[in-house]
Amino acid sequence: MMSDAKFRDILREVGIEATPIRLAVLAAMAEEGRAVSAMEIVSAVRRNRPANKVTVYRALDLFVEKGVALRHALEDRAFRYCLGAAHHSAFHCHVWCRLCGRMECVSETAVGLGSGELGERLGMEVTGVEIRIDGICGHCRRAGEGAPSRPSH
Ligand SMILES: [Zn+2]
Ligand SMILES: [Zn+2]
Repeated sequence: MMSDAKFRDILREVGIEATPIRLAVLAAMAEEGRAVSAMEIVSAVRRNRPANKVTVYRALDLFVEKGVALRHALEDRAFRYCLGAAHHSAFHCHVWCRLCGRMECVSETAVGLGSGELGERLGMEVTGVEIRIDGICGHCRRAGEGAPSRPSH
């Protein structure tokens, strides 16, 4: 669990003023531990305090601009946000379920891709990794197995 002080440090580092709403947005993202839509973040923030949707969106835009958060564009057109290096290991990958739209953050090592090793192989200093693995998540696969087969015409 990340503390308020840690969130303040993150914002101070990139020169963003730590307003209560920005701290709340950071906390909401950290709590999720996966990439979530702006609306999900608004709902999470609103569980603890009233929040204007536009203010939350602006905070997210600012976080992306300053590199505090990562923004992911998906086929369903709803952006997903995660805390990137501020929360996870410096590099991480994303696993996206095409059915339910859930996007998990997974460490690079979980997919067998250590950045050190990768850099050695490529002969470069790796400063960022952006990999998205698409598929059907375990939950949706299990749900699919239990569902009745489609009626024939
Ligand atoms: Zn799924
Ligand atoms: Zn992520």
